[in-house]
Parts: sequence; C-alpha cells; structure tokens
Amino acid sequence: MSIAENIASVRLRMAAAAARAGRDASEITLMAVTKTHGFAQIVAAKEAGVTCFGENYVQEAEDKSESFAGARLHLIGHLQSNKAAKAAKLFASIDSLDSLRLAQKLERALEADSREMQAVIEVNIGGEAAKSGIAPVSNEFEELLRAAAEWKYLRVMGLMAVPPFLEDAEQVRPYFRLLRGVRDEIAARQLKNVKMDVLSMGMSHDFDAAIEEGSTMVRVGTAIFGSRATLVS
Ligand SMILES: *Cc1c(COP(=O)(O)O)cnc(C)c1O
Repeated sequence: MSIAENIASVRLRMAAAAARAGRDASEITLMAVTKTHGFAQIVAAKEAGVTCFGENYVQEAEDKSESFAGARLHLIGHLQSNKAAKAAKLFASIDSLDSLRLAQKLERALEADSREMQAVIEVNIGGEAAKSGIAPVSNEFEELLRAAAEWKYLRVMGLMAVPPFLEDAEQVRPYFRLLRGVRDEIAARQLKNVKMDVLSMGMSHDFDAAIEEGSTMVRVGTAIFGSRATLVS
C-alpha cells in the first residue's frame, strides 16, 4: 500500500470513529508522525493532504526542516531545556511541554524573537516512571497552569498524553477517558492564557478509541509510513 492509500484508510477509520461518537470528523486533526522517515515520505504525505507533522527530536527535525515547508510542525518528544531556543525557532507547537523550567526557557527565547508559539502540556496519564509528562494532580502542574497567566509569547492550547502501551486498544480507553476528564476540569476553571481546545491522544493502534473518547488530534506514524527501522544515528 502506498502512503496515500494508507492515509486514505486512516481517514476512513477516523471518520468511522467520529461517527460512532456522534462527532464531526472535521474537528479532528491528523498529525503524521515522521520520526526516522525521510524527505520522499514526508512529501508524499503532504501531497495526500496532510498539513500537520510531528517529530520527536529537535536535531532530526532541523535536519529535515525543508521537507516540512508549508506544513505545521509539532515537537512531540521530550525537550531538554538547553535546546529550547532552537526548538522555539523550528516548531509551530511544542506538544511535550512538561516543566515550568522548560516553559520559562521557551518564553524567554520567544521574547527575544517577538514570536508567539503554541504549546500543549504533556500529562503522564499512566503515572509511568519511564515516561515524561507532568502528573495530572500535582503541585508542579498547578504551578505551570498558574505561571501561564504571565506569559506573553507561549500559548497553552491543551493536553497530550502517551498512555501505557497495551496491545488491546480497549484497555487504553480508560486512560483516554482520564485525560479527557483532566482537560474538562481545567477548561472549566477558565484560567488566563490557558486554552484546552487540543486533546492530543491516540496513535496508530488505538486512535479509534481515542476519537470516541474525545481526541481532537491523533498522532499517527506506523499506520501511514509502515514500521520504523531502528534509529542508528
Ligand atoms: C512515535 C510516536 C507516535 C506515533 O506512533 P505510531 O504507533 O507509529 O503511530 C505518536 N506519538 C508519539 C509521542 C510518538 O513518539
């Protein structure tokens, strides 16, 4: 199957899941996740109508930056704060915002360029030690939400999570529901400079369930580009 055919079938799955939930499929963004994939694959996805891409590493995204011309590029992997300045120039959104320290570094870098940038807070929804993201109920999370009121350039748009990997998407569903609940609670508080429009959840094997639980952005790699070769660089 070609990349265009894979994208068409992903879109069909998205539409079917939206219909099951009584939702309008047009409110769900397809992000193509291109880590390890090259120029030809990225361009093929753009030609098939994909306008939003996700990369995990700053350096890899920079090396491939020409491929993303005309599209929105999001960072979805953990960002070390010493790379914040570079990331602030490269991405339309940092979807893996996971600390106040990082947010402050980004805000300062953006201020230097007088540029606004979007950010999505990554939540460690499964409480897994090996995963990045902020605990959903923690002082750290509260501090970050409160600090956002002061930012002039960094705009919080919502939440992202990578739940525990479970083969059966039905077993991931409770985590999607949990994240949706956290999002709804924060949205109801109407905090200054904190929007909760984006709920980024669902990957190749479980995005159907994520859409049924309210996802507004699915991050799809394997189902579009096939399996990833191990990164050797
Ligand atoms: C790699 C990655 C994806 C895509 O995963 P697939 O299973 O290949 O669709 C989505 N989100 C994040 C954060 C990733 O690192």
